[in-house]
Amino acid sequence: MQALLDIQDLRHAYEGQADGHEAVRGLSFSLERGTIGCLLGPSGCGKTTVLRCIAGFETPRAGRILLNGVVVSSAQTSLPPEKRRIGMVFQEHALFPHLTAARNIAFGLSHGDVSEKRVQELALLTGITELLGKYPHELSGGQQQRVALARALAPRPELLLLDEPFSNLDTGLRERLSHELRDIIKASGATAVLVTHDQNEAFAMADEVGVVHQGRIEQWDSAYNLYHRPVNRFVADFVGQGAFLPAKVLNPRSVEIELGVLEGNIPSACQIGCDACGKGCLADVLLRPDDVVHDDDAPTRAEVVHKAFRGAEIMYTLKLESGRKVLALVPSHHNHALGERIGIRLDVDHVVAFAPQS
Ligand code: ADP
Ligand code: MG
Repeated sequence: MQALLDIQDLRHAYEGQADGHEAVRGLSFSLERGTIGCLLGPSGCGKTTVLRCIAGFETPRAGRILLNGVVVSSAQTSLPPEKRRIGMVFQEHALFPHLTAARNIAFGLSHGDVSEKRVQELALLTGITELLGKYPHELSGGQQQRVALARALAPRPELLLLDEPFSNLDTGLRERLSHELRDIIKASGATAVLVTHDQNEAFAMADEVGVVHQGRIEQWDSAYNLYHRPVNRFVADFVGQGAFLPAKVLNPRSVEIELGVLEGNIPSACQIGCDACGKGCLADVLLRPDDVVHDDDAPTRAEVVHKAFRGAEIMYTLKLESGRKVLALVPSHHNHALGERIGIRLDVDHVVAFAPQS
């Protein structure tokens, strides 16, 4: 099937950016129609620049962007933004302050009854029917964001671009709205690219996520695989929490850390080498907080050095015999004091190992 959006080896530099420090440095991904994709990465990694190139506000230095198989951007061609059938929602809502919600939504539609009907449809879809007569300053941040989404969807764009759409909202609302926005986008049939630095937002909204680092995608994958099967240390560090422990790779199916031997397929073992192949066998193994299970009966003990109460769970930081620390996510009725030594065992489903950092 032909991708709706296809980005091929995109490169872009702003004036003054030296070679090797370009905003986007060879970034590729594609999205099938109806998919919500997300670029997830730290501030300054090039996310907004990619969206600006897709929208047609920037002409890339190299590479190509195809919509429905047609090149819309390359170093040679650039289709004007208004011809791309793209809708946009930005972090600062950007509603017109002197127009009501209804007129904000209608902006960009042709006049007449058809647009009136379309505004009503969009209001229903985004749950703002009651708010159509209000001005932006009379609306909460979440309501404004719904109006912005309705406005972006009104002309039936093929592609919707969302740049950190929740960053002005507080945490609880952010989570609820990200689920709702996902449902609204899915119901509209649009394909979407979301960019954010917030993994919870990415995971709540997107079908596929690309972790971006210095203008390139390190891994394009499901949220599950980014967390459980990160392909490199950057992804492992950026997505989720955890700790690395030094390990000896015994063979491609087992590693030994201070807490015991872990069995499982170790995809990276052949690059690291193992005891059997003679290439060297030292590795760093990633332990996620859900790999470390608190068990009062377990013989291995670790000292509670920090605890963060999260309601349903407590995130414990535990000091091992060696002095190294691991994290453990534990149901919060197991409420232990700082300094206490609690029993732990490992429940590791996927062994994630990388060559040791020199
Ligand atoms: P993100 O959205 O991931 O935070 P951006 O795409 O905004 O990242 O920026 C990528 C890099 O390009 C950063 O180093 C940023 O400082 C730089 N940059 C962004 N916009 C401009 C601009 N208009 N002029 C010069 N440099 C820019
Ligand atoms: Mg940005």
